[in-house]
Amino acid sequence: MTNPDPTQRLTLFDLPLDNITLDATLDRLGDWIYRAPRAPHTVVTLNPEFIVQSRTQPDFVTAMQVADLVTADGVGIVWAARQLCAQEVPRAPGFDIVQGLMKRHGADLRVFFLGAKPGVAEVAAQNAARDYGIQVAGIHHGYFDLPEDQRVAELVRDSGADLLLTAMGAGRQETFNQYWRQVMNTPVMIGCGGVIDVLAGTADLAPAWTRRMGVEWIWRVAGDRKRWNRAPRLAKFVQMVRAEKRRAARAG
Ligand code: UDP
Repeated sequence: MTNPDPTQRLTLFDLPLDNITLDATLDRLGDWIYRAPRAPHTVVTLNPEFIVQSRTQPDFVTAMQVADLVTADGVGIVWAARQLCAQEVPRAPGFDIVQGLMKRHGADLRVFFLGAKPGVAEVAAQNAARDYGIQVAGIHHGYFDLPEDQRVAELVRDSGADLLLTAMGAGRQETFNQYWRQVMNTPVMIGCGGVIDVLAGTADLAPAWTRRMGVEWIWRVAGDRKRWNRAPRLAKFVQMVRAEKRRAARAG
């Protein structure tokens, strides 16, 4: 694990959060990919659901605590950092990181697409190769059980990928990347939720205006019935931040 810059690393509910822009994130990931020696790194794009979910999932907490880079995926985290750390943290969302790397490095980038329903990662890979000229190092769907983890991790290792997109849902993707990091030995492994679906065109990217304002989650929750049951988790997050702020004020 590389040592993140301690002056730029905040703590939010026992979890790290790096105060880093999208551009600086792309620079750092580019260094990890192209500067020898080749070593594994994990990247987490933190969102409010991760924080709520991790309260009942200790291995998810560990995976985030030891991650080499933890960026703010959206305004929920930016708001929480403002409330609890009095810091303005820029957003570096998962989709923008993945697209940014593909745009910057094109044919020099070997990408492994891991996740989503069978068939979807194939389409995502074809589209990314067509649109950005990247090389496809490997493809695997995201619906396998724990006993198969090692086989999949070895596939990733043998592919020689520079960048692993792990899109298997919050928690599962981060714990997989963390547990198998030494085996996979991929310079950048990023848990990136619905990014493979977006690249495949099976899920739409939130409209530009919501992305500019950093409120794409409103569009996602409203537009996807499956996500309606997640709104309470966002409410729970707001409640957690408020309670923590009161606690800190009493202690301070
Ligand atoms: N997914 C997967 N394996 C699973 C569960 C989910 O590959 O066991 C994929 C799913 O098909 C989608 C992505 O993970 O492409 C994100 O799923 P979802 O939005 O349900 O998860 P979240 O990150 O919002 O928890």
